[in-house]
Order: sequence, then structure tokens, then C-alpha cells
Amino acid sequence: MNLDLQGIFDALLEGVVVLDDADRIEFLNTEAARLLGAPAELSPSERLSEALGQDHPICGIVERVRRSGRTSIHDEVEFPQRLATPIPVDVSASILGDRNDGAIAIIVRDRSAARSLREEISERERQESYGHIAAGIAHEVKNPLGGIRGAAELLQLSAKDDRSRKTAALIVGEVDRISGLVDELMIFARGDALELERVNVHRPLDALLDLLALESGYGSIEIERLYDPSLPELEADQARLQQVFLNLARNAMQAMEESGGKLTLSTRMTLENRLVGPDGRAQPTIEIVIRDEGPGIPDAIRHRLATPFFTTKRKGTGLGLAVARHWIRRHGGRLNIESIEGEGTRVIVDLPLQPLAPPELDRTPGTLTQTGNQESPT
Ligand code: ADP
Ligand code: MG
Repeated sequence: MNLDLQGIFDALLEGVVVLDDADRIEFLNTEAARLLGAPAELSPSERLSEALGQDHPICGIVERVRRSGRTSIHDEVEFPQRLATPIPVDVSASILGDRNDGAIAIIVRDRSAARSLREEISERERQESYGHIAAGIAHEVKNPLGGIRGAAELLQLSAKDDRSRKTAALIVGEVDRISGLVDELMIFARGDALELERVNVHRPLDALLDLLALESGYGSIEIERLYDPSLPELEADQARLQQVFLNLARNAMQAMEESGGKLTLSTRMTLENRLVGPDGRAQPTIEIVIRDEGPGIPDAIRHRLATPFFTTKRKGTGLGLAVARHWIRRHGGRLNIESIEGEGTRVIVDLPLQPLAPPELDRTPGTLTQTGNQESPT
């Protein structure tokens, strides 16, 4: 039988590298070449440390195996990538049997899908628990609110003097405000469907500027638009996107209420291809950045930003970012916040040209599959 060994190894999901006794690369399959860097760079017979640089974590592992003579196993080692974020890789390295003269075999396995799935699961569990709380609150609060409103309206109609009428109207108004809040919260409880249409992303961005113009207090804020006019349309829910951008831009404006400054809205196609579709391929992605020159966000509170009800504002609801994040995720996109204290904040929204389903979890034990994109935590 004439086996094509290289072909077989190249078909493996694991990367395989074999080094000779002087750590020269004797064998390398396609997956190993991908995880370690461009294949062209790693021509066989080159020394590993010369090909990758002595700093590459795999060199340290090989050194350890040489020293101890034992197999060395490492979980989620970060393999640096030239133009992208590092890939977490499980590595196991061992000396091949006596007859192989000190050759070392290294098996490497990409863990990024598993890692993003793990993050996705905990994020989803968080969202689900918000949903339970929201549903509970909505039920307990909405019904009595209806009663209060009705009673206040009756009072308003039967009031004999102006003051009573105004007081009753005040009750109605405040009840409506709470109702609105509960409705907003209900977004987490319902699996709202998106109403998809072709959207020029500049349309909802411009619309929000019109809306913001109606709000007072943003006197000395300059607005700059850096739109890429060649952006393709995306398939999205325009009303939801408008809500997202409004929430984010309003935060930016509020951050500059006292200091003044410039709000910059910019759009472009991203080249980094950070969103991954069900087939595991990078998806064409539009990036929208909302930048302000406000005070920035202290490190200490950054991880709490998108938690419902977290606010640092006297009259804030703490729902703006949570809701924005929810709708971005429903589109299969991502929300990232970068902030430098004293300089300002950049809120980055990545949206796929076509909505991606959020990852499906196959709950059968041992067969977790991922069919969606990954998201980094805000
Ligand atoms: P709210 O605006 O009602 O407080 P959000 O969810 O919109 O709720 O925002 C939560 C918190 O995140 C804000 O209270 C604020 O502390 C912080 N934040 C959000 N955006 C910005 C920004 N552009 N600059 C500074 N802080 C921000
Ligand atoms: Mg807000």
C-alpha cells in the first residue's frame, strides 16, 4: 500500500511538528504551519527557534522537554500571530522513542473555538438570568401600574381644582415613565425577532443626530461625520440599530456635557474580519465607531458597564449599554468599548453584512458545537 503520509497528516485537525535532535524542523503538517505562522516561513530543516524567534512559547516547551526527557503538556498557550490576535493552543511535546535519536514530536491543537464558545455560554447564561429577572419584574410591576394609572386618570377627571388635576397628571406621567422602563427591560425577556431590511448604516446614524439635536444641554459639542460612502448596505433591523446608535451617542454627548468637545461618528469596512460565521469563515464586517472627548471610563467600573441598571448618572437608567449590546448581539455583531481616562471613549460596533445567528449550543454531553460568531466581553 502506498500511503500519502503528508496528505494524511495535513487532513488532521491537530497540528503535528517533528524536530530532529538539533531542534530542526523535520516535519510539519498544514495545521501546525497555520498555528505557528505562515508556512513559507517555516521551511523544514530550519531550526525552530530561528524560524519562530526564541520568544515563541513553543521554544520554551521544547527546551523543557529536552531538559527533563519527559512529555510536557500545556493548556491554552497563547501562540502569537503576525497580524492577528494570538491563538490559544493546547500543546503536548514528547521525545520520540530511543530509536529516533532524540527527535521530538509536538502536537498542537487550536482552542479558540472552545474558548469563545465558553465565553459565549457564560454570556448567554448572564443574559438569560437578566431575562428571568426582567420577566419577574415586568409581571409584578406592570399590573399594579395599570391600576394606578387608571385610578389617577379618574382622579384627574373628577378633580375639582387645578392643583389636584395637576397632581393626578403627574402620577399618570410618572407611571408612564416606569412603564417605559419596564418595557425596555422586557427586551431581555423576549426573544424579539429582528425585522430585517436592507439598511444603509448612515441612515440610522444621521437620524440619531436629528434626535440628539432635539435634546438640550449639549451646547458646545461639535459633531463630525467620517463616513465611508462606498459601504455596502447591510441586512439589519433599522429601528433597532437606530436605538443602539442613539443609546451610544447619547452616552457620548452626556460624557461631554460639562467639558464640551467633539463627537465623531465614523464608518468603514473592517479588514480584521473579527466576526466568524457558522461555517467558521470570517464574515464581511462593517465597523461603526462613536468617539467622544469626555472624561473616559475608570478601569474600576469598566467590566460593569453593560450590566443592566449600572449607572454613574444621577438620572441614568443604566439600560442604554445593556440594550445596545443586546441588539448588536442579536445581529451577530459585537460591542467593544475602549476608553482612556482623561481623553475620551471609543465605542466600536462591529456588524456583519448579514445577521449571524447567535451560537447554537448542542447540549448533548461532550458534543459542544459552535455555529456562530465570537464576541469579546465589554
Ligand atoms: P446610563 O447612560 O443610563 O447611565 P448606560 O448603560 O448607557 O446607562 O451607561 C452606563 C454607564 O456607562 C454610564 O452611567 C457611564 O458611567 C458609563 N458610560 C457609558 N458611555 C460612556 C462614555 N461615552 N463616556 C463615559 N462613560 C460612559
Ligand atoms: Mg446611557
